Amino acid sequence: MNEQERIITGREQDADGWQYSLRPRRLAEYIGQNQVKQNMQVFIKAAAERGEALDHVLLFGPPGLGKTTLANIIANELNVNIRITSGPAIERQGDLAAILTNLGENDVLFIDEIHRLSKTVEEILYSAMEDFALDIIIGKGPSARSVRLDLPKFTLIGATTRLGAIAAPLRDRFGVQCRLEFYKPDELCFIIERAAEILGVAIEREGAQAIARRSRGTPRVANRLLKRVRDFAQVAGAQSITEQVADEALSRLEVDKYGPPHFADHCKNLWRRASGHRNHCGSRKRRKRYYRRRYRTVPYAAGAYSAYAARTHSHTRNIQVSWCALSEGGALI
Ligand code: ADP
Repeated sequence: MNEQERIITGREQDADGWQYSLRPRRLAEYIGQNQVKQNMQVFIKAAAERGEALDHVLLFGPPGLGKTTLANIIANELNVNIRITSGPAIERQGDLAAILTNLGENDVLFIDEIHRLSKTVEEILYSAMEDFALDIIIGKGPSARSVRLDLPKFTLIGATTRLGAIAAPLRDRFGVQCRLEFYKPDELCFIIERAAEILGVAIEREGAQAIARRSRGTPRVANRLLKRVRDFAQVAGAQSITEQVADEALSRLEVDKYGPPHFADHCKNLWRRASGHRNHCGSRKRRKRYYRRRYRTVPYAAGAYSAYAARTHSHTRNIQVSWCALSEGGALI
C-alpha cells in the first residue's frame, strides 16, 4: 500500500500545521526568557563556529513554559536534526542504545521528563554523555559479555519539571543548565497576539491583556484560553476579541483573574503533602519533623500554603511565585 492510500502515516498532515506553527521556530521568535535566550545565543554561536556539538543542556521549570519549544529552536539554530523522546518511553538500555546509535554527528537528542528515566538507563547515559560511548552487556549468564559502542558526538537536551528528582551525577553532566521563569503579562500579551495572528483571529490589545492576566504566567495556558475565547467570539458573531468578549468568555469558563479554577485546590494539596498532613495526624512538632525528613529538598513548602491562603482568603498574594519556588525544590510536583 503506498503512502497516499494509508489512513495512518507518520508524515506531517496539513491539519497538523496549526499545532506546530504556534511554536516559535527561531530564537528571535521566542518571546521572553531574555537571560536564557541571550546565553543560549552565545553558546550556540560558539559551538557553530567551532563546528562542534553544543554541550548538553538541561532545561527546567514548571510545565508549559516552553522547554520543548526551546529544544526545537536550539536544533534549528544549530541546523541539525532533533530526535524527541521522553524518560518513561525509554524502558530498557537497548531502547536508548538504538536511539543513540541512530543519531548523526552533532545531532540533538531531546528527552522530556528526564527525571523519569529508570536507574539502569540513566547509568548507561553517563558514559554516553561524557565519553560518547555506550557500554552494554550482551547475552545472559556465563556467555554474557560487555561491548563498547562508539557514538557520534551529540547534544542531549533534557527537560524536567522536577530538578530535585534528578540524581546529582546526571545533573552535573549537563554543561548548560537553564531555569525557565513564568512570563510577565506583557510577554504573554505578545504570545497571545502572535498566536491570534497565526490562528487568523482579530484581537484587541485589551482582549489579549484580559487573557494574559488569567494565564498564570504560562504560554500553554494562554494559547488554550485564546482558543476557547475564539470559539465564544465566533459563535457570538464578534468581529474581534475585545476585552468584553474575553471577560465574558472566561467567566463562562469559570476562569477568574487568578487563572483556571483548579489551581487553588492544587496549591492546597501541595501544602497538605508537604506538611505530611495526609499521612500524619500527630502534633505540629511531629508533623514538622516528618516533613523535614521526608521533603528535605523542598525549601519553600511554606510558600504553597501562603499561595493557598492568598487564593482562598485574602486574594492578594502572587501565587505563581510560590509555585515556582516549589517546582524548583523538586520533590513535590
Ligand atoms: P513545556 O515543554 O515547557 O511543557 P512547550 O514547549 O510544550 O512547554 O510550550 C507550550 C506551548 O507554549 C507551545 O505550544 C508554544 O506555542 C507556547 N510557547 C512556549 N513558550 C513560548 C514563547 N517563548 N513564545 C511563544 N510561544 C511559546
